[in-house]
Amino acid sequence: NDHATTAAEPFRPAGLGDAEGPGTVHIRKLVKSFGPHTVLRDINIDIASGEVCVLIGPSGSGKSTVLRCIDGLEQIDSGVLKVNGEHLGYAEEATHYRPLPRAELRRQRTQIGMVFQSFNLFPNMTALENITVGQTLIKRTSKSNAKKRAKELLAQVGLEGHDAHYPAQLSGGQQQRVAIARSLAMDPQVMLFDEPTSALDPELVGDVLDVIKQLADDGMTMLVTTHEMGFAREVADSLLFMADGYIVERGDPREVLASPREPRTQQFLKKVL
Ligand code: ADP
Ligand code: MG
Repeated sequence: NDHATTAAEPFRPAGLGDAEGPGTVHIRKLVKSFGPHTVLRDINIDIASGEVCVLIGPSGSGKSTVLRCIDGLEQIDSGVLKVNGEHLGYAEEATHYRPLPRAELRRQRTQIGMVFQSFNLFPNMTALENITVGQTLIKRTSKSNAKKRAKELLAQVGLEGHDAHYPAQLSGGQQQRVAIARSLAMDPQVMLFDEPTSALDPELVGDVLDVIKQLADDGMTMLVTTHEMGFAREVADSLLFMADGYIVERGDPREVLASPREPRTQQFLKKVL
């Protein structure tokens, strides 16, 4: 079961509360299976507006699946999943689902930004085009406004003057910063980062983490999976450790990293710290 809900702090354990409205995530009893394989058994997470939540856990524990559910890329089996105060993809709670029309799910999804480990930029488009395409096609922004915004975002991620570069002409760290800018161009209220620096050479990690940290300082609500424990300690409001389909431990990142209570967390941290 979700140990943390029964553990020490009875009033407000980290990552649990009653997050509601724009820029929030609210997950209760989330269950998700792939065929016979139940990956998420009972996930409970709240992220309040402006909070940074870091999710850690062994490979295969379901971290990406949690993010993909929150981004509407996976349908959940049961539970409550509200993003920005709305039941994601459904008209009511999952116990009596009524799927929303695709256009409505698409509208909800534009308010959620997702950044993947593998960047996933459009290889045949320049950095600028990667950032304008969603604005013009989905948000119906005019070409000139989209371009203006793209240039601002490139500057924000430290890539001023890289408009005309194709992904193949950029380093991994630069590509990931373009991917972040592309995501931000949709004006999301929640940002999801799935191991955003795991594919990068060590010397390129810092620039990407700095961009994410700046976003956090600016008040973006975010959920980040990462193996960068320094980042978790410095930036996260709450740290969640997941294993076997549950959030096994949660708390202030400094406390969890310094003195994990659960043996599972202790074993995991011994390997990564
Ligand atoms: P993590 O991100 O923590 O490494 P994942 O969420 O990627 O874990 O995967 C959790 C489990 O779900 C793994 O056993 C993985 O093989 C399985 N899984 C993930 N996506 C799918 C899928 N589309 N179909 C079948 N199994 C999947
Ligand atoms: Mg993953």
